[in-house]
Amino acid sequence: MTCAAIIVAAGQGNRAGGELPKQWQPLAGRRVIDWTVAAFEAVPEIGEIVVVLRPGDLDMFDSRGRVRAVAGGTTRTQSVRLGLDALNASPSSGPDYVLIHDAARCCIRPDLIRTVLSSLTEGAAIAVAPALPVTDALWRGRNGMVCGTVDRTDLCRAQTPQGFAFRKILTAHSEHGVDAADDVEIARRAGMDVQIVDGDVQNLKITQPGDFDRAEKILRGQMDIRTGTGYDVHRFGPGGHVILCGVAIPHDRGLQGHSDADVGMHALTDAILGAIAEGDIGRHFPPSDPRWKGAESHVFLDHAVTLATEKDFQINNVDVTLVCERPKIGPFADEMRKTLAKILQIDPSRVSVKATTSERLGFAGREEGIAAQAVATMVRT
Ligand code: MG
Repeated sequence: MTCAAIIVAAGQGNRAGGELPKQWQPLAGRRVIDWTVAAFEAVPEIGEIVVVLRPGDLDMFDSRGRVRAVAGGTTRTQSVRLGLDALNASPSSGPDYVLIHDAARCCIRPDLIRTVLSSLTEGAAIAVAPALPVTDALWRGRNGMVCGTVDRTDLCRAQTPQGFAFRKILTAHSEHGVDAADDVEIARRAGMDVQIVDGDVQNLKITQPGDFDRAEKILRGQMDIRTGTGYDVHRFGPGGHVILCGVAIPHDRGLQGHSDADVGMHALTDAILGAIAEGDIGRHFPPSDPRWKGAESHVFLDHAVTLATEKDFQINNVDVTLVCERPKIGPFADEMRKTLAKILQIDPSRVSVKATTSERLGFAGREEGIAAQAVATMVRT
């Protein structure tokens, strides 16, 4: 079973105000579109993610991993069709299922994406869409006066993502794809039955200027941000190199310890464990346990990353400071950053490794050992 997503972001978005179309406007520290794409990236069951943009906007978005940008058309319906065509033209000739979502619904939660997806893949439905009941009374108004009431029985407020069997919606678009408000409308023109699942009241669509404030409050409320710190010291002893942040550096002494004595990686491991309140490295890897004798410290860091992932935390950034007079860290700092980034599964731009001396004061100043401290910031996905 394969599933892909199409995120439609090719609109002009004039009603929301601002100089840029709404999908490019900043919101709670990122652009609107980045929030939307990140929610889909957080669902591992979704494979390819196609972001449909205005042709002139393509250079504003970096394709990466499962996410690629394609050029859209002048209407939403045309843009969806171009997204479907892009999936169909991929080497696997299209997924089994596709979810189609509006980029302006940037508060979409991975839970709702999963609900739509599982209703499609686990039931008999070939089309599924989230919706909310209409709870307010509905009136017709003209010239500031109520001129009629509307029966709200059976009325629904439609949301996205709307999910479909890929081949069926592709055919529906090619045969019935003249302009429509959404893809449910096109699916129904093609005779497809569309199952409704419960929508999410927070899954609002940014349309009016005031919606940015509402969306910002929702997104900031959803963010669970944690910070952890770590500190470690290892003593110098005989040897010909030290291992710091996974990189072997020639030196006239080595660091002593039960494992490979990588003081930088130990401090970082403790910072991550601290952020998720999982104790410290000694609790998970007791020095009394012979299994960890001479162990390479990436084992400890790998474990902390796995624990964080299991708790749905993503590492936002880390910062490691090594305290020593010698060896000089500067020439090796970039290699250390890349080594740590690989273990942390994040971009090296989110990993900082720096060093300081302690002005020849204290144990580090007397070159009796090396100290390291680390900070890790994690965000619950
Ligand atoms: Mg240690």
